[in-house]
Order: sequence, then structure tokens, then C-alpha cells
Amino acid sequence: MPAPPHAFAYALSSNQAWAGYKGHQNPDFFPKLASGQSPAILWLGCSDSRCPETVILGLQPGDVFVHRNIANIISPTDINTSAVIEYAVTHLKVKHVVLCGHSSCGGAAAALGDARVGGVLDTWLTPLKALRNANREELNSITDDKQRAVRIAELNVEAGVAVLMANAAIQDAIAERGLQVHGTLFDIGSGRIRDLGFGTGKGGPHGFVGAGDTDVVRGKHAMLVFRTDGAGMSVR
Ligand SMILES: [Zn+2]
Repeated sequence: MPAPPHAFAYALSSNQAWAGYKGHQNPDFFPKLASGQSPAILWLGCSDSRCPETVILGLQPGDVFVHRNIANIISPTDINTSAVIEYAVTHLKVKHVVLCGHSSCGGAAAALGDARVGGVLDTWLTPLKALRNANREELNSITDDKQRAVRIAELNVEAGVAVLMANAAIQDAIAERGLQVHGTLFDIGSGRIRDLGFGTGKGGPHGFVGAGDTDVVRGKHAMLVFRTDGAGMSVR
């Protein structure tokens, strides 16, 4: 889908309209936002334009601290990812770390194929290619291309959560204040986020947090409720 002409001019005028609407709807919104942040969620996701975390969570500016890269690869030696995790966990004291992969990920598709993308991209995608090689038999047994891409995205989230669980800042926060780590997958075709049951949550594929826990993230206009039977949304 080609971008429309004057896409940036349109975006700028759209911003003016949005800021006017938000300010009219709630005169305290921007002054309060400017006074500081205390997000409850750190989101680690893909750079894909179809996965804008705050939008798909139905939350608002100030609710989600974010790091996104191509194919949401969590590499322990990536100083960019590590700095974001450390600031969010140690300084902002987020309550949830959410790693989210997605369906139809271009990075996953590239890692599944043998063609080289070129430039620095092949280097960046090396961990995914290693994952493909390590799970070649299972992945090759999936005949549907879309399903195969979903499966490698799941494996990538599982591997990423393992790196997160080995991160010192995250380990300390889990022990000291019950930080929760979640591995999830966003299905672009339905708009739904599915919990994969990795991380601190023991609820399995339908649980977002540990058994018996209910945690509410209060957004500016809606609440995201994490429960053992899944995450729910209520609009105030
Ligand atoms: Zn992607």
C-alpha cells in the first residue's frame, strides 16, 4: 500500500486536530502529562507500523514506556534495549514487562527464507535465523506460510522472554517487588493480543498474570485489567 501524497503534511495537521480535541476534552490532560511519567507497562515490540503499542492496547500517552526494533529481537548485548529495560524497570519501576511479537512479521518471513536482505539487516536478523535453524524440522512441517511465520514469531518471543528473565535488573525487580514479565503475540488480522504463557505468569496461554492476581493499569480514559483469565478493557 503506497503512502498517500503529502503524508507528512496530513500527519502534522492531524496532530493539530488531535491536540485540540484532547485539550478540549480534558483541559488537564497535557499539563498533567508534562509534569512527569509513571507508566505501568514496558512494551518491547516490533517496529512494524501495524503494531503501535499504545493504540492497540487502547491506552494513552503516559501509559506505556516503549522499545521497538525490527522483529522484536531481545539481544542481551544490545545496549539500546538494555538501557530502555534498565530505565523502565529500575527507575520508572514499571509493573509489567510485555514482549510482543506479531503475525505477518517481515523480519520473521526474512529469517524463514534463505534469501539475503542485504546491508545490516542480515546481521540484525541472525538470532532469528539461528532460531529457524534450531527448529527447522518443526517449522518445515508447517505447510501454511502464515502459520509458519506465526510459529517462528512465537519461538522468538519465547527466546526473548528467556533473555529478559536472565536480565539482572529484571531479576532484582521480580524478587523485590513482584515485577511481571509477559510473552505475547499480536494477531494483526483480528487486532487481538494473545498471551503465550511465558515469563512470570503461570496462567498458561490464557493467563496474563500469576494465579489469583488482578492488576489494573489505569489509563487516562480507560482501564486495562490483567487477570488470570486474560486481559480486559473497560472504558470510563
Ligand atoms: Zn515485525
